[in-house]
Amino acid sequence: MYASLGVSPAVYRYGEDVLEALKSRFEAVDAVAEHNQAKVLSAMQKNRVSAACFAATTGYGYDDMGRDTLEKVYADVFHTEAALVRPQITCGTHALAVALSANLLPGDELLSPVGAPYDTLEEVIGIRPSPCSLREYGVGYRQVDLKPDGTFDYDGIRQAINDHTKLVTIQRSKGYATRPTFSVQQIGELIAFIKSVKPGLNVMVDNCYGEFVETLEPSDVGADMTVGSLIKNPGGGLAPIGGYIVGRAECVSRCAFRLSAPGLGQEVGANLGLLPALYQGLFLAPTVVAGALKGAIFAANVYEKLGFRVVPDGTEARHDIIQAVELGSPEAMSAFCHGIQAAAPVDSYVMPEPWAMPGYDAEVIMAAGAFVQGSSIELSADGPIRPPYAVYFQGGLTWYHAKLGILLSLQKLVEKGLATLP
Ligand SMILES: *Cc1c(COP(=O)(O)O)cnc(C)c1O
Repeated sequence: MYASLGVSPAVYRYGEDVLEALKSRFEAVDAVAEHNQAKVLSAMQKNRVSAACFAATTGYGYDDMGRDTLEKVYADVFHTEAALVRPQITCGTHALAVALSANLLPGDELLSPVGAPYDTLEEVIGIRPSPCSLREYGVGYRQVDLKPDGTFDYDGIRQAINDHTKLVTIQRSKGYATRPTFSVQQIGELIAFIKSVKPGLNVMVDNCYGEFVETLEPSDVGADMTVGSLIKNPGGGLAPIGGYIVGRAECVSRCAFRLSAPGLGQEVGANLGLLPALYQGLFLAPTVVAGALKGAIFAANVYEKLGFRVVPDGTEARHDIIQAVELGSPEAMSAFCHGIQAAAPVDSYVMPEPWAMPGYDAEVIMAAGAFVQGSSIELSADGPIRPPYAVYFQGGLTWYHAKLGILLSLQKLVEKGLATLP
């Protein structure tokens, strides 16, 4: 079957050799998924999810029981007081922009103690000028970079916190950087430090790509708001749109007023019939994330053994589903993405090309043959065309699909003479 899909016997054999050594890693991934499956089930049972929750609502969406119950389920999964989860949140950037703008007022300052935030947030914050940025509304921004070894600069952070500091934003995942992703435990230590310097500061964690990778979430270790996208991990590949914000009731209710309108808040927002996918996606998310994680671990080991730098490396613990592979040239990025695209169930016949994606400052190449446009819990690879020419590989609704994608990416590199099998 692999030969019929375009994988040569040599590439297949190399992949099987790499897999042989990964059995115990995969067992550990399954154990986390088992825990998280129980966590999700328990939240659904406690909140008495029923078929009535799946009914479509339209118009204002007053008394939308399915929407309100889903938000209670999310609050219980993340162990928070409140949750805002709905299709009106269009993507992760939107969820983050809502959380930031709802909880910062003119004169306040936002602090990122973990270096530059994800590319699209630069315009939200106003690091790159943009209409309606926080900066235009008089919200300041300060950033403390990580130390060269990737750890927190505690002295720098203490100095950066001042009378105006109101909200701290911590990005869990590396995004388009090659720094390490933080573990939930590390995030907890950073939050404890920040709150010891200035009690009462709110901390928001950008949890994109991190959900269900560990048994704990940032909300378990002191985050006031934890934020992410439903077309990544927690949507389980089924959610066709949406984002979530979970956290302290005070912060989340401000987010609801920002998202809809002051005075309306969480009371409006019809579900438009999308709730079955949001519920079922959350139900499947722990095992979908496990498949994606196996793909990431496999990719790291496949490419590391061929001499490419990979972040995280082949043996490191995982805190998100992203695997960066530094390929060293635009041609190798294209070949890699071509392989991922060729493995897709949708649009497998198209050739990915770099383009100027909204929100990003370099051209981005993206391989995505997804059921949901741009979904990156589905098998996908992307990266900005700039040194070190790293592709960020993520997703796979099933482990077997992720495996095929990685084998085909290698196949394309080998065919172009850009990688050599041992
Ligand atoms: C994907 C991502 C975002 C933005 O989410 P979109 O849904 O693409 O808008 C923000 N932060 C991180 C770390 C991400 O991975």
